[in-house]
Formats: sequence, C-alpha cells, structure tokens
Amino acid sequence: MSLAPKIIVADDDQALTRTLSWILKDNGYEVVTVPGGENLIEHLLADQFDLLLLDIMMPKVDGLQLLERVKTDYRFKDLPVLMISSMPPEEATVRALGLGAADFISKPFRVRELLARVKAHLRTGRELNQARAEARSRTEMVDILQEVTATLKPDEIYQILVRRVARGLRISKCSILIGSPDDESGTVVAAYENPMLRNLRVDLRRYPEIQQALKTSEVVLIQDVLTDPLYQSVRTEWESEGVTVPTRSALALPFQLRGKQVGVFFLRTTAEDAPLNQQDVEFADQVIKAAVAALEKAYDLETAMDGQEHMRHLAETDPLTDTFNRRALGEKLVQEMERAERYGTVLTCLMIDIDNFKKINDDHGHLAGDRVLRSLANLLKREQRAVDILARYGGEEFVLLLPETGPTGARIFAERVIRRVAGNDFGDSGRVVQVTISIGIATYPDAEITDADSFLKLADTNMYKAKADGRNRFRG
Ligand code: GH3
Ligand code: MG
Ligand code: MG
Repeated sequence: MSLAPKIIVADDDQALTRTLSWILKDNGYEVVTVPGGENLIEHLLADQFDLLLLDIMMPKVDGLQLLERVKTDYRFKDLPVLMISSMPPEEATVRALGLGAADFISKPFRVRELLARVKAHLRTGRELNQARAEARSRTEMVDILQEVTATLKPDEIYQILVRRVARGLRISKCSILIGSPDDESGTVVAAYENPMLRNLRVDLRRYPEIQQALKTSEVVLIQDVLTDPLYQSVRTEWESEGVTVPTRSALALPFQLRGKQVGVFFLRTTAEDAPLNQQDVEFADQVIKAAVAALEKAYDLETAMDGQEHMRHLAETDPLTDTFNRRALGEKLVQEMERAERYGTVLTCLMIDIDNFKKINDDHGHLAGDRVLRSLANLLKREQRAVDILARYGGEEFVLLLPETGPTGARIFAERVIRRVAGNDFGDSGRVVQVTISIGIATYPDAEITDADSFLKLADTNMYKAKADGRNRFRG
C-alpha cells in the first residue's frame, strides 16, 4: 500500500486541473483526475481515496448534486470533500457545507492556502478513519465475542460469525467452509447469504483461493476474479458453461483449531459492495482469531457431552435388546409414579413373560433364543407409543410402562400384543419358531400399590395368574 495520500480531483477546467495536479504531486500527494466529474462514483469505488476536490460548477454534472450523492453513500461517508468554485462564496458555501462538504475554496485560489487546507482535511480524514476503524474493531469485537462466548454450539458460533462479519464489513457474501488441503470438496457450515443453509458440500476446484488458503494457511485476497491468474482455469470453465458470475473480489482467511488447519472464512464482494481493503481483512482476521478460542471450547464441550451421552446410554441400556435395563426401569418407574400422582393421572405396568422359553432354547439353541428376545423387543417397540417405557426386567421378562393408560386401555393393548406375538414367526432361515407370551397388568393408583416394588409385585402376581390359567393370555 502506498503511503502517499491519494487525492481525486473532479473539475471541468482542464488548465486548472493540470496546475492543481502538478502542485499536489509536487507536494508528495498521489493524484487522480476526473475531467468534468463524469463517472466520479465509479472512480471512487475503484480505489481508496483520502480526499476529494470537487468543482461546484461543471457543464455536464451539478457539483452539489454529486456532493450529495457522495455524502449520502455510506461507502464514502468518511471521505473529506473540498469544494472548489468561482461562484460568490456565501450561498454556495452554505449549501455545500450543509451537504457535508468539509471545506470550501474559491477560485482563483492561493497555492499556500490550498495546500494548507488540503493538509488539514487529510489529517482529520485519516484520523477519523483510523478512529472509526479502531472503534469498530474494539466495540464490535467485544460485542461479537460476547455473543460468541455466550454460545456453546459450534454451529451457532459459525452462524454468528458470518452474520456479524458480513454486517460489519457491509458485504453480502460471507461464509465458513470446513475442509482440508487434500480434499477436493469442502463443507459450507454457514453462509450469511443463505441463513438456512447447513452443511453444503462444494467442489473446491471451483474455488482456487480457498484451496490455496487451506494449503498455505495464509490469507488469499483476489482483487478481481476476472483478471487474477489464480482464476484462469475457473474462468475458462465459466466461459465454456456460459455463466457470468457477480463476484468481483474474494478473500479466503484460513483458520486453525488446536493447531490444525480446519477451514476458511470466505468473503466475497460484488460490484455493488464496497471493495475490500486491508483494514477489512484485518477486521475479519481479528474476529476469526478471537472466535477460535470459543470454537475450541464449544467443540470440547460437544465431545464431552457426546461422551457423557454415550456413557449414560450404556449405563441404562440392555445390550441384547436395546431396551432400558432393570436399573433404569427402577428410576423411570419412580418418576412416572410421581408424575401420575402430581397430575392426577393413571399409570399402567405390564409384566410380560415368554411362555416355556426354556423349551425354545432347548429345541432351537441359545442363539435362536437370543434372537427371539431381540425380535420380541422390536415387536413391542413397534406397538408402544413414544411416551411408553420398555425395559428388560429379567431373562425373558419385559416390563412396559404405559403412562396415562387405565385398565381398559391396558387390556386392549395387552390383547393386541398377545395376538401379534402368537401370529409372528420368530424363526430364521426357514425354521419356524412360534412364541406366546403371558401378561400381568397392574394400574396405579391401586390400594395394593404403595411404592415401585409393590407395583411390580402386583403386575408379577397377575402375570403368574395368566400362566396358571393356561398361558398366552393376560390377567389383572
Ligand atoms: P414359563 O412359561 O413358566 O415362563 O416357562 P419358561 O421356560 O419361560 O420359564 P423359566 O423362568 O423356567 O425359564 C426361563 C428361561 O429363559 C431360562 C433361561 O435359560 C432362559 N433365558 C434367560 N435369559 C436368557 C437369554 O438372555 N438368552 C436366552 N437364549 N435364554 C435366556
Ligand atoms: Mg417364561
Ligand atoms: Mg420367567
């Protein structure tokens, strides 16, 4: 970046423009002239200027109107504008200053005075820009970090980052892509331009800046995708496909988690966006660097939670049938009884026992017996509602808790399950295995039920009644 302040001069008076240009350059400034003020906005967009010298009276464009356009465009709001005019100062000055001009110089001007004013406004312009950039980095950063650290999910952090950076830089396209240097595709985990998007696979061969950023772990800034050599092969592809892309510049900022290259922050601008400058790159870089700590914490937590969840599942599940085990049933039963009591509802417990299971083992082998247990568990899972709780109570005994189900509903359910089981073939590879079950029903509240144990006891007693009465039936 050149350190010489850059001044843009818009005037229709060629002789004056030449003189001005010469004087300013001689004093160490870089100068760009826009004869007659035509296409001034395009010029302002194409480069970064520190000061605009604008003529009020030009034949083709009205200087004051131009001033208004420049000053109402947020992209130039910190650009100091010095108006030049041969008009009598009073009226024009008042209007120009009202529209946001920094100062007013009348023709013919004295060189010393002009230089003094240029210098003064350049300084305030620069200071303002710097102050604003710092304020933005500091206050926005604190804001962003507060929002980010209040969040414990990586996915939400990504969403916050793309939103805050896109808004902070006033660009329309900002996304985060997770990928490794060796992969041909990556996953977009968040995109400001498409808030509903989650985990979209993209072909990285179409994004050479991303590939390069992942490979080198360094920031890649493409000022213009239409001319940058990195985009050569992609441009050829666009041409053969006849596509026109709105993207003008692109910035790929790689980031690491726990020292490992994991992805890029990907910013793109179109012709309508303010062009990305070095300060923007630094801002985005600072945001992502600061967010990395929050992301690492979030990922650690997620792993720990997954681990905990896994441990909990193991601790309360019967491995053969993937139903709750006896210990978990004890806890659930107490919870459900409390709930029934609190809301004044009923709770039914079914004790389900396979008839003559010993004989099934004897006739078909222990492995076939295990398969019967798994199939029966699956059949019961299909019949139950989402709120019902199925547990393996013992070897070939299951308990099913039916919240908010009374004796009538329980009987209908038991009847149906008994029928389904009896009509099912539990065999494998052509060998028919038929199974029946007996069910004991108990419904809480009941005079005989004082706690979880007496509840199970009542269901068990009724199950034995069903056995005694000939099996393949329910009692209770
Ligand atoms: P009843 O109709 O009176 O219930 O007769 P039963 O044979 O089913 O009753 P009993 O309680 O006498 O026998 C249960 C059998 O279940 C004994 C045991 O070998 C078998 N068993 C228990 N757990 C498992 C298991 O995990 N897998 C297999 N294959 N068999 C099991
Ligand atoms: Mg049995
Ligand atoms: Mg038994």
